Amino acid sequence: MGLITEKDNKYVANTYKRFPVEIVSGSGALFYGADGKEYIDMGSGIGVNCFGAADKEWAAAVAKQAATLQHTSNLYYTSPCAELAELLCERTGMKKVFFCNSGAEANECAIKTARKYAQDKKGEEYYTVITLVNSFHGRTVTTLAATGQDHFHTLFTPLTEGFVYVAANDIEAVKKAIDENNTAAVMFECVQGEGGVMPLERDYLRALAAYAAEKDVLLIADEVQTGNGRTGELYAYMNYGIVPDIVSTAKGLGGGLPIGACMFGEKTEGVLTYGQHGSTFGGNPVCCAGALSVLKRMDQKLLASVKEKGSRIFAALEGAKGVEAVSGMGLMIGITTTRPAADVVRECMENGVLCLTAKTKVRLLPPLNIPDELLDKAIEIIKCACAKEV
Ligand SMILES: *Cc1c(COP(=O)(O)O)cnc(C)c1O
Repeated sequence: MGLITEKDNKYVANTYKRFPVEIVSGSGALFYGADGKEYIDMGSGIGVNCFGAADKEWAAAVAKQAATLQHTSNLYYTSPCAELAELLCERTGMKKVFFCNSGAEANECAIKTARKYAQDKKGEEYYTVITLVNSFHGRTVTTLAATGQDHFHTLFTPLTEGFVYVAANDIEAVKKAIDENNTAAVMFECVQGEGGVMPLERDYLRALAAYAAEKDVLLIADEVQTGNGRTGELYAYMNYGIVPDIVSTAKGLGGGLPIGACMFGEKTEGVLTYGQHGSTFGGNPVCCAGALSVLKRMDQKLLASVKEKGSRIFAALEGAKGVEAVSGMGLMIGITTTRPAADVVRECMENGVLCLTAKTKVRLLPPLNIPDELLDKAIEIIKCACAKEV
């Protein structure tokens, strides 16, 4: 056992089951272990390092801001925060942005906003937020309640009230739930990430968007995992031709720094007013500088290459031995394997490729700019691990 492992096990709270790998540095899609071993990173720190590890342009932007001004609090105006909000609005058509530090916080803000909107417009009993079975929305007491998986609802009760769960892709079920509850909003991931990399069906999401608009029920797109280029569009809802009222995001937004954002559309831009929400670190200049640096690079060319690289993975894995199905969108991919996913992931790790799991699947979230040679090398190792008879 290495020294890092020993110390971590002794002093860091026991909430993570880590792989026996100590990572000390990285470069692009490669991570380097304390023992000198090289790994191809097919997880990007769970979809965070969108341009890989220690990307030069990103690191320079972050270092420059850190050496200029690292924090002021939200009592004052700072440029990176304003610039980033402008860029997000320009690229999405949303109207205003609230900055926070994580995905769960972005969703908290979305839920607060939806409740306030419905309360203002319809009355204070209109607080129900409908979410989908197998969704994942975060680890706070409210976002655990929003998460549509029963096993997240134990241990920390009572959770926040006012959530109702319906099966994904069942339009009648969601319409019924909207009608039978005092519904403020429907919250969904366009591609369920933790729940098994399952994209929502196009017709379903479009029909849901139309019905929600008719009933003045808000649509909240949880783009924490799917956002920031991951699916080959800047935000995954753009693949569906819908316009959410609220978009939450985090993970890839800062390129490796903790930043979340809750974006508001026309209906919701004015809902939260002075004193109703806040965050000490929200809009932190260094995190915003990191986010600006990555967002500026997510142009059409980059997004098209994300789609191409995704297709490359699909083509290589579909029908391969030991691969039962491949799901996902862009560079957000789930593999149903004949062998247990955890065994495949362990074997890949031993062979120098780091992958994730999602429920019973192997999940891939590589850096968006992973070079094709490294991608092909990783795919070969994953294929071998899937094919192995044990
Ligand atoms: C990871 C994730 C979250 C939670 O984000 P944190 O930054 O860990 O709080 C919320 N929603 C989705 C869809 C996620 O993938």
